[in-house]
Amino acid sequence: MSFAKHLECSRCGKTFSPRALHTLCLSCQSPLLVRYHLDEIRRRSKKTALINRPANMWRYHEVMPVDSHHDIVSLGEGYTPLLQLKRLGSKHGLSALYVKDESLNPTGTFKARGLSAAVSMARKLGVKKVAIPTAGNAGGALAAYGARAGMEVFVFMPKDTPLANVVETKMAGAHVELIDGLITDAAGIVAERKDKAGWFDLSTLKEPYRIEGKKTMGYELAEQFQWQLPDVIVYPTGGGTGLIGIWKAFTEMEELGWIDEKRPRMVAVQSEGCAPIVKAFQEGKDSAEVWVSPRTFASGIRVPKAIGDFLILRALRQSRGQAVSVTDLEIYQAIHQVGSSEGLFLGPEGAACWTAVKKLRERQWIGREEKVVLLNTGSGLKYLDSLQHFEKQSFPGE
Ligand SMILES: *Cc1c(COP(=O)(O)O)cnc(C)c1O
Ligand SMILES: [Zn+2]
Repeated sequence: MSFAKHLECSRCGKTFSPRALHTLCLSCQSPLLVRYHLDEIRRRSKKTALINRPANMWRYHEVMPVDSHHDIVSLGEGYTPLLQLKRLGSKHGLSALYVKDESLNPTGTFKARGLSAAVSMARKLGVKKVAIPTAGNAGGALAAYGARAGMEVFVFMPKDTPLANVVETKMAGAHVELIDGLITDAAGIVAERKDKAGWFDLSTLKEPYRIEGKKTMGYELAEQFQWQLPDVIVYPTGGGTGLIGIWKAFTEMEELGWIDEKRPRMVAVQSEGCAPIVKAFQEGKDSAEVWVSPRTFASGIRVPKAIGDFLILRALRQSRGQAVSVTDLEIYQAIHQVGSSEGLFLGPEGAACWTAVKKLRERQWIGREEKVVLLNTGSGLKYLDSLQHFEKQSFPGE
């Protein structure tokens, strides 16, 4: 059975039943978060019970919204490796540098976590048709989990989305519409057509469960570090679901008695061509303005406006963290650098994090001995055409 207590509005605190289908808060249109009976979980189960659990994100089922394992739509997502980067770290004066390698998830990115949770709950609550606006990877993941759940899936993505996303989505049987615009334009189309078409909208933070899937990264980091959180976590930020989710997981785990009050400093990384959160952070604002004409080949973080901007900014400040932007050229070079020194083919978003770490180390914001984790959110294999295009544009004649 589930320990879900209610859904709670992240802005006004209003609560809603966890047994009905919900989108945003009915009063103030802000994201809803799942709250659990953590005191009861604390009494009934111990973290040592995890030892015998399956190596996927559903090992934390007490703090997940499902009622039983029959509800779960899974392709084996989560419990990804935490790898130490010794060669790269020592070259840059970092003795404890790690990557959490999310590229090993089904569909090659961490979007699998969010969509596994969201599709599981949507199916349980009777949804038959789902729609999503996406920068690419969420569409691929929804197509896969939707197929596994027997749902009809409608995906809207910009026409310059990486080819891998278009092909994987079509091959999983989804209806794909390529649009002349950005993810925010795709979101507009879904919002406009969903009622008439009978679609449930699975946009980031417009339903409460994708974040529950993504928060499991926080649980895994704690477990993989023997319940001692690292000093710094570096996260490539688009809609910010993962960052908000990881921060939520830490709060839950402390209430469960699984960790102490020590928290990592959270770092949000964006591309200089689309950095609304970095700008808002540096200006001391509580929410971010829409970024006009965003440009970056790191398509997963090409998000001009995040509905959860205030939650991202709050987590950054509460953790005494930072927000950093990097150029596409730096991202490109970082992919090559990590590939050639550690054998990992990072996605551009994960590579952006490595660039940010180097900058923060140079500024002494990160100390030599500090434990630093960067999230490699997806595989470089999903960006072959984007990488080639960037090479041709940046180094013509080579
Ligand atoms: C979606 C995505 C991101 C951004 O994730 P958020 O949690 O929405 O900020 C980063 N990297 C990749 C590869 C993505 O697909
Ligand atoms: Zn509200």
